[in-house]
Parts: sequence; structure tokens; C-alpha cells
Amino acid sequence: MNENFKSGFVALIGKPNAGKSTLLNALIGQKISIVSPKPQTTRNKILGVLTEDNFQMIFVDTPGLFSPQNALGQYMKKSTDSGVKGTDLVIYVIDGHKPFSDDDLQRIESYANGQIPLIVAVNKIDITQGEKLVKEVDKLNGIKNIKSVYCVSAQNSKNLSELKEGIKGFLTDGNRYFEDDDVTDKSQAFIVTEIIREKVLLLTDEEVPHGIGVTLNKMVFNEVRSIWEIDANIIVEKAGHKPIIIGKKGAKLKEIGSRARMSIENLLGAKVFLSLWVKVKDDWRNSEFLLREIGYNKKEL
Ligand code: GDP
Ligand code: MG
Repeated sequence: MNENFKSGFVALIGKPNAGKSTLLNALIGQKISIVSPKPQTTRNKILGVLTEDNFQMIFVDTPGLFSPQNALGQYMKKSTDSGVKGTDLVIYVIDGHKPFSDDDLQRIESYANGQIPLIVAVNKIDITQGEKLVKEVDKLNGIKNIKSVYCVSAQNSKNLSELKEGIKGFLTDGNRYFEDDDVTDKSQAFIVTEIIREKVLLLTDEEVPHGIGVTLNKMVFNEVRSIWEIDANIIVEKAGHKPIIIGKKGAKLKEIGSRARMSIENLLGAKVFLSLWVKVKDDWRNSEFLLREIGYNKKEL
């Protein structure tokens, strides 16, 4: 037993697109949470685990702070709220590349005055100039009870070791919640569906991405051929979205499939045979029944 061993839960919150999922992946050194320039990419609460000799940090990635517009949005908001509950530390991630909004500043102030200690991570300093950044960070000086502010680049892993050092001071207990080599609470199957969703987000624009879900029909390892056989549905909420995802002569779907296959091969460390199908389920984001079928179950939060 290591008497100096400390562990604890750390919630990542902030507006969509601030870089929470990128920061989570960078902190644990593996891609477990998908990233895209589209707001509300993250839909579930995802745990990322970092274990070293003296500590275990369990990061809770959340969909972030926004106003829900439908049943899926309500599920996402609940994921965020339950992600913060009971943690030892909250990290508010803010995009340092843009002027801080009053919204953000008010939320930071209200978290700073809450029960759980608050650190602010000002992200994207790789694309923000010195003076501009200083001017924005100055706005945080007036807010009492912020424990500390770190200027980081999640994308380039800049200042993350300082941030980690800072986090250590807030770990409160000595339990080993996860095995040393665990990196997440999510299954490989879940990450596979998320990778497929990420590629759709990255390769289609505007209204389509918000309305898609991904489910697995099959995911088995064929021992004889040494290959994963994966068969998945991309669910769209309007018939008009189907041709957009399939593209001319199937070109778009082919590209989605081939990019997804490469990422999944990376994740699983083996060859993958991937089949994708596009299905229409009208207005699934507003149907509690279809939400559960697609894997967003409020009761599990
Ligand atoms: P989330 O919604 O807060 O989880 O944000 P994501 O992690 O999905 O990132 C949103 C967008 O910001 C993506 O396009 C990321 O590539 C980008 N991004 C995240 N961190 C950084 C960073 O440190 N620097 C730059 N330049 N871009 C970043
Ligand atoms: Mg995210």
C-alpha cells in the first residue's frame, strides 16, 4: 500500500466547443471522447482515468452548459449536472481565443461560490496572442474564490503538467476506483459508435449532424480471419438527411466509413471490416422511446 496515494473525481465543464473533450483526451493520453468543431458533440458523461504511482484522477467529461431544445438536450443537461455532483474539483474550461462572455463569467462566479473548489483552464493559447489573452484573463481577477487559473493548449498539450500538479492538491481520498490500466468507464462498443458519429460530424455540415445517432448491429472478432466485423446504423431524423449522408453514388458514406474504420483499427489494434447503414427514425431526438433505443437512457444517469 502506498500511503501517499491520492484519488478523486474532477468534472470538466464549460460551454460547448471550449475544448473539454480535447483536454480530457490530452490529460489521459488517449482518445476516448470525440471532438469536433460542432457544438454539442459530446452527449454523454464520459469518465477518463489517469493513474500514476501516487495518484488516480478520474475526469468527468460532460456535454457542457447550454439550454436544452429537445428531449436529447434534456438528457445531455442531466448528464452535465450529474457529472458535477460529488466531485472533488471542477475545472471550468473556457475558450481563450474569444472574448470571455458575461455568461461565462457569471457561471464561473457561481461555481466559484459553490461547494466544490473551482479551477479555470483558459484553453487554445496556441491560437491566442499575448496581449489579447492577458486582457481576457484579467477579467477573472475580479472573481473571488477561484482556486487558480491555468492557460493551456489542450491541442498541443501546453501547460498540462502544471495543471495536473495543481489538480493533485485537490484529490481527497485514497481509493483505487479503477484498475491501473483502465482509461475509461465506457466500453469499446460505445467508443466505436462515437467514432462513427464523429466522422459524420466532421464530414457533413449544418443541420444534419445534430440529428444523428449511431447503433451497433454486430461487433464480433473473427478469429479465423483475425478481423473485427462491425455492422452499424447511422440514424437520421429526417428522410431528407439520408441522401446527404450517403452522397453522390455513395461517396460520402464511403468516406465516413473509411475514416471511421481507420480510427477504430487504431482503437482496437486490429483490422476492421465495417458496414454502415443509414436509417430514418422520424424526430428520434424528441421520443423518449427512441432515445432509449439509441442508448440515451435518463434512468442510467
Ligand atoms: P468541447 O465541446 O468543449 O468538448 O470541445 P471539443 O474538445 O470537441 O473541441 C472543440 C473544437 O475546438 C475542436 O475543433 C477542437 O479541435 C478545438 N480545440 C480544442 N482544444 C484546442 C486547443 O487547445 N487549441 C486549438 N487551436 N483548438 C482546440
Ligand atoms: Mg465535448
